[in-house]
Amino acid sequence: MTQPWIRKREIVLIAVLAAAALTAAIFFALPKQHSGVTVRIEQAGKLVQTFDPAVDAVYHIEGSCGGLDVEVKNGQWHVINEQCPNHICAEMGWRTAEDVIPVTCMPNEIVIYVGERE
Ligand SMILES: [Zn+2]
Repeated sequence: MTQPWIRKREIVLIAVLAAAALTAAIFFALPKQHSGVTVRIEQAGKLVQTFDPAVDAVYHIEGSCGGLDVEVKNGQWHVINEQCPNHICAEMGWRTAEDVIPVTCMPNEIVIYVGERE
C-alpha cells in the first residue's frame, strides 16, 4: 500500500540517464576546431603515441597481434599495414578530428581516438 511512486532503483536509473545526457550535451556544445587537436593511441590500455593530425607522418604501433601503422595525411589518419585477422581497423578508413568513434583494432588491443582539443 505504501509503495512510493518511484522506486529507488528507478531514481538511480533516471539519475544515470540524466548524467549521460548532460555529458553528451556538454560534449556536443564544445566548439569544434580543426587546429590544436591531439590524437592519442593506446595499446592494451596504455598511451603509447600521440600525434597532431596537422603533421603528415606514419607511426608504427606495436600490438598484441603484430601491430599496425597509422598514416597521417592532410589532417586525417587511417590504419595501414595492419597485422590482424579481421582488418576492421583498416576498413574504418580515414578519420578526422570530427569523428567521435575511435579506430579500434581489437586483436592488437589498439585504440586511436581524439584526445584533446584546444
Ligand atoms: Zn586490426
